[in-house]
Amino acid sequence: MQSEMNLASTLLPADMRVLERGWLSSNNIVCLGDEPCVIDTGHTKHAGETVTLLRDVLGDQALVTIAHTHLHSDHCGGTGALQAAWPDASTWVPLPSLSHVQTWDQDALTFGGTGQRCDVFTASDALIPGNTVRLGNHHWEIHSAPGHDALAVLLFEPEHGLLISGDAMWESSVGVIFQHIEGTGSFDTYADTLALIEKLSPRVVIPGHGAPFARDDGAIDAAFASARKRIEYFKDNPAQHAAHAAKVMIKYQMMDFETLPRAEFDVWLNSMPLLAVLHQQHRPDVPWNDWLESVLEPMFSKGVLRRNATHVMNGD
Ligand SMILES: [Zn+2]
Repeated sequence: MQSEMNLASTLLPADMRVLERGWLSSNNIVCLGDEPCVIDTGHTKHAGETVTLLRDVLGDQALVTIAHTHLHSDHCGGTGALQAAWPDASTWVPLPSLSHVQTWDQDALTFGGTGQRCDVFTASDALIPGNTVRLGNHHWEIHSAPGHDALAVLLFEPEHGLLISGDAMWESSVGVIFQHIEGTGSFDTYADTLALIEKLSPRVVIPGHGAPFARDDGAIDAAFASARKRIEYFKDNPAQHAAHAAKVMIKYQMMDFETLPRAEFDVWLNSMPLLAVLHQQHRPDVPWNDWLESVLEPMFSKGVLRRNATHVMNGD
């Protein structure tokens, strides 16, 4: 693993930095040069830290461009803080998201359905699939990358073979396939995006979470194999995807809030539309409260969450 990380980082151009972040934040990918750019801004919870990290990398330079692979709350939560720190920066989002941001449509931006929070920001420019955009010193092809998120894009720089994959491809696992949950796509939608990535044949994948990984030591091939195996499993066992997604959504929320009074935790569980959909996709035959307990019980017993008489807390 260590050598894979080192190989990928040696293949990055000297004017690029990958600020690898821990959950809940996505990585922040910085393209330096005359017009510095950051791609993806992390979660609102870590927005202050993101500004500090960017200042360290930029030195005296101003941030000129903020771009996004997709607008999940772990990828655009720092954007408002970055805009406050660098008011002249232009902000780019995938084309269909532009009007959602400009009107701050919480449901279209998925914060309504998931109950997640995200600081408000503005956007001025669209990343249009089929076009090329200059970010930092490099020209990046924009490609649609549906599956995890319907509106996501990935950015490919052919000269160095760099792929900024967002959550369309990780090294060792697969994100929740939100399009399957929403009924706007399928597990095959995600697999089609993997096929597109394979066709682009990147030399280095810079994922939304985790370290960059490289083709030359086999890490990209291994990532394809494990992602496809996982997708096949979900295709054969769609209910298991729903159970997995429910746990991910609950854990995500508790990583943000850390601790909640039990009553508030229950209110949140009962008011999150996406969780009700997952109940239907997992075990519609089981009453809601029994289903919730069946999802939560293993999370508590494994220490993923903790609870006492009054509060529910994030665990390990
Ligand atoms: Zn993410």
